[in-house]
Amino acid sequence: HVKNLERLKGKENVTQSGQRIDVCANIGTREDIENVIRSDAGGIGLFRSEFLYMDNGAKLPTEEQQFQVYKLAAESMGVKKVVIRTADLGGEKQADCLDIGKEANPSMGLRGIRISLEKEEIFKTQLRAILRASVYGNVSIMFPMVTSMEEVTRAKLLLETAKRELKAEKSAFDEEIQVGVMIETPAAVMISGELAREADFFSIGTNDLTQFTLGMDRENDKLTKFYNPHHPALIKMIRIVANNVHLEGKKISICGDLAADLDLTETFVQMGIDELSVAPGQVLALRKKIREIQ
Ligand code: PEP
Ligand code: MG
Repeated sequence: HVKNLERLKGKENVTQSGQRIDVCANIGTREDIENVIRSDAGGIGLFRSEFLYMDNGAKLPTEEQQFQVYKLAAESMGVKKVVIRTADLGGEKQADCLDIGKEANPSMGLRGIRISLEKEEIFKTQLRAILRASVYGNVSIMFPMVTSMEEVTRAKLLLETAKRELKAEKSAFDEEIQVGVMIETPAAVMISGELAREADFFSIGTNDLTQFTLGMDRENDKLTKFYNPHHPALIKMIRIVANNVHLEGKKISICGDLAADLDLTETFVQMGIDELSVAPGQVLALRKKIREIQ
């Protein structure tokens, strides 16, 4: 079975009728970069940068430390894209180096882009590291857990500040670096038309989108019987987002677990989803599924 999949390496992700869809891979550790290369994915569709903060004890990762890892990813992927998501901490991803205090309900608490906007210097350090790495490959930036336009405009302003600083220091970076937004809250779905004008690309995080749409903790084992990622509300939301993003002529990907759900691949293809980003080990099975679709 695995051998059969291996034969798909180097092949295109194209349906029988010629519709193409990108298949990229998600990473959550430095070691995963190797797995992505072996997987033959079209790039890194989601670089979960949290590990840099979670595996660093009580110390924040320095700009240099982050830069080295982002640069490694960029260089390893060559012309293939690397979408670096800024730290999506908080919720179920707690880091000792960030003192956000105790919260009664962390999954609805200070997390993702909210922490970044509360801790601007820490955020700017990450943005500078990503910008500096951007000259070594095809790097873009993506913001997690967005709920409002203001969050995106504020994050983009901080990105402009980071660019200005680097320019003054004569540090090289990609001036045209693309900025993406994750759609993983119902609020982001409802304003996806407006967001589509403000960002360059989009990726649907179905793990959090399921959690917040159904109002069910994604980590709670007691809910398995109720937790339905195929809920029609979710499929409708994905369709709405895809339409809104395409109306602005921009690209939409899916990077949550649902992207690897082969029972939905045909639905996603029909919606015109541009890219699916899955764990490296799932890339070839997804390619096989896509190539079987009429
Ligand atoms: C998601 O929420 O679907 C997602 C891709 O982000 P994470 O799983 O890291 O929260
Ligand atoms: Mg998420």
